[in-house]
Amino acid sequence: MPISGRHDDPILDQLARDTFALFPHCHRCGQQIMRFEDADVRVHVQRVVHRGACPTLPVVERVVPPETTG
Ligand SMILES: [Zn+2]
Repeated sequence: MPISGRHDDPILDQLARDTFALFPHCHRCGQQIMRFEDADVRVHVQRVVHRGACPTLPVVERVVPPETTG
């Protein structure tokens, strides 16, 4: 049975919440989505993105030591 297009289905809602719990990071910008209400969960592809536009990412200085090989 296809499960698309039934947003009022409690089982789908539970699936969406479970998906969000498993994948709390936005698939578009990579940031963690803080609230389920802010998430746009695509249940069938198990993708979560920010609802609407992604928040602008503050500039984070990351110091990553180069991998030493050999
Ligand atoms: Zn995002």
